[in-house]
Amino acid sequence: MSDTQPPPGLDQALRERLGDDGVVTEPARLAPYMAERRGLYTGQGRLVVRPADTDGVAAAVRLCRDHGAAVVAQSGNTGTVGGGSPRHAGEVVISLERLQRIRRLDAEEGLLVAEAGCTLAELQAAAERAGRFLPLSLASEAECRIGGNLATNAGGLNALRYGNARAQALGLEVVLADGRIWRDLQGLRKDNSGYDLRDLFIGAGGELGIITAATLRLLPPPRSRRVALLALPALGPALPLVRAAQAESGDAVVAAELMSAEAVAMGQLLDDTPANPLPGSPWYLLLELATSDPRAELDEALSAALAPAQEAGQLDDARLAPTEAAAARLWRLRTAIPDGQKRAGASIKHDIAVLPSDIAAFVPRALAAVQAVDPDVQPCVFGHVGDGNLHLNLTQPAGADAEAFLAQRAVYNRAVHDEVHRFAGSVAAEHGVGQLKRDEVGSYADPLGLELMQHIKQALDPEGLLNPGKGPAAAGPRPADRDRGDDTSC
Ligand code: ZN
Repeated sequence: MSDTQPPPGLDQALRERLGDDGVVTEPARLAPYMAERRGLYTGQGRLVVRPADTDGVAAAVRLCRDHGAAVVAQSGNTGTVGGGSPRHAGEVVISLERLQRIRRLDAEEGLLVAEAGCTLAELQAAAERAGRFLPLSLASEAECRIGGNLATNAGGLNALRYGNARAQALGLEVVLADGRIWRDLQGLRKDNSGYDLRDLFIGAGGELGIITAATLRLLPPPRSRRVALLALPALGPALPLVRAAQAESGDAVVAAELMSAEAVAMGQLLDDTPANPLPGSPWYLLLELATSDPRAELDEALSAALAPAQEAGQLDDARLAPTEAAAARLWRLRTAIPDGQKRAGASIKHDIAVLPSDIAAFVPRALAAVQAVDPDVQPCVFGHVGDGNLHLNLTQPAGADAEAFLAQRAVYNRAVHDEVHRFAGSVAAEHGVGQLKRDEVGSYADPLGLELMQHIKQALDPEGLLNPGKGPAAAGPRPADRDRGDDTSC
């Protein structure tokens, strides 16, 4: 494998198979495939192929393999860990963006068979037109594509109620490293006739095979929905409030988004963000309840959940959205945070998970560890508290040098991730491993688990052609100091 350029003759062979339309080499047209959204990585590839169907993907993989070139699968290119970014000029990007067909939509069976390049929003709309509901919901849903959603096992805004991308998949079609196509799209709800190959490819970051199509489960659509913003005097009451709302509503809480006051304030840096209607509290919880039960009384459920907390002084105030437009304004307080954080300067982000019941103990410890590095760093904490998954993000101290702050990335990672490790949590909760978390995973993961993953990689991709240098199988050995347990703090 060459690191410096695609192998000679590969470009021409791909053009002959895929047509000129299916091969991109001009620098200006390559640029969007090489730009990673957060600007952390710039892809080095000089060759992008755009097959129109699964056979084209398989042919491209075979040709790359015959020429000794590694491949990087890419669908919406909205990932945040460098998973879709080619690390070397000799690697070929296989874009799935032209695999756009919905092959089957069976409302009665609740099945949708879609190709990897369909955007998540298109699939949500198709399900809705058929009177069904595809529950996966992500901030990037207008651009992200289902192939990447599954390859990263994306979580998102309503994983609390409906599960991650994995929970929506009843079948897959996958192009393997040798160019063969494994198909299991029937969509059986039960099938214990062997090992679960489907779940092996989901969340594997395109490192074990390239997902080209999937069978997704569709649900009855929600009939009623309520959105509420709760202002909290402290972090502690957040999870008990979520659990009370779940209990009172018959498990209708689809989203429970925690936001620190600092995170809400960063969202306000965008022009279109509405003002915070409940200013002055240190923490906020955005709850969305939705149900397909026509008899459900969501207002009563919310009141019953909130009243005891209010009496106990664990709830400063609550605002229930009376209309869909008001609900959208409350949601905007949350969805504005990532872009608002960009406005505030350079950031270092941590996508972590602990047990939900450990959140209240974990967050102050992690923030203290961060502030021990620099007391002026600006934490921006928000995320999916019901799942125990937080974005414990850091923004540079106001007025400080961005580069100097980013140069401390490893120090901040250590501060946060050592605390995550103490709580037996995950340092790669919903965005995947890719390049960004590879070494962090290598530092903290169970060595036997990593060894098993490396065996699986070896079995499915013995020549190392699929997305090399990324993911858990590419993680280096565990540093010796990790074995000292809690002694790693200094
Ligand atoms: Zn998230």
